[in-house]
Amino acid sequence: MKRKLIFATNNQHKVNEIRNILGDRFDLASLKDLKFNENIPEEHHSLEENAAGKALFIYNRYKTDCFADDTGLEVEALDGEPGVYSARYAGDQCNFDDNINKILNKLKGINNRKARFRTVISLVENGRVINFEGSVYGRILDEKRGIHGFGYDPVFLPDGHEITFAEMTMREKNRISHRAKAIEKLVKHFFNKHKI
Ligand code: IMP
Repeated sequence: MKRKLIFATNNQHKVNEIRNILGDRFDLASLKDLKFNENIPEEHHSLEENAAGKALFIYNRYKTDCFADDTGLEVEALDGEPGVYSARYAGDQCNFDDNINKILNKLKGINNRKARFRTVISLVENGRVINFEGSVYGRILDEKRGIHGFGYDPVFLPDGHEITFAEMTMREKNRISHRAKAIEKLVKHFFNKHKI
């Protein structure tokens, strides 16, 4: 029998991405598959706590192994901001442009543009939490470039590349992204521990 696993996310794009990697070795269910429509509290102050909080919430509800992710952009000159607050940096009703503009304003006149995207995936297996992390380092440009992707992609230039995340195709970005690296570690765990 295939092992049951829940991905505690409402983002169907992420579910498809990981289903594609895991193939048919797992019986992977998303929150949509479970018809789970409630809001999961995300009120912690670190990516680790948020990811673990979401995964444990769903694990306790369904008594099934489960994982969840949380991502943030950490800007060195802003002491790691927006970090865990990346989604709503410019306020509750803000959009991606508002968030980008807030960062660009705060970085005006500052030479240190170093930043990284960091993803934490928390897996709850038999009640025990294991974290997997993926980071991609780069710099924040002075203005937006590119139309692909989402969030802070237009102002993020990954190290070793001459185009922003928003100028890359989805496939190019997924090859080097923070999320891809964290997912790779999760998948390695399954392969090593469960020989799946
Ligand atoms: P989430 O934890 O994946 O929902 O990400 C939280 C927020 O971080 C998003 O709303 C985006 O603003 C930002 N973010 C996450 N991943 C990316 C990315 O790959 N590119 C640009 N921004 C991202």
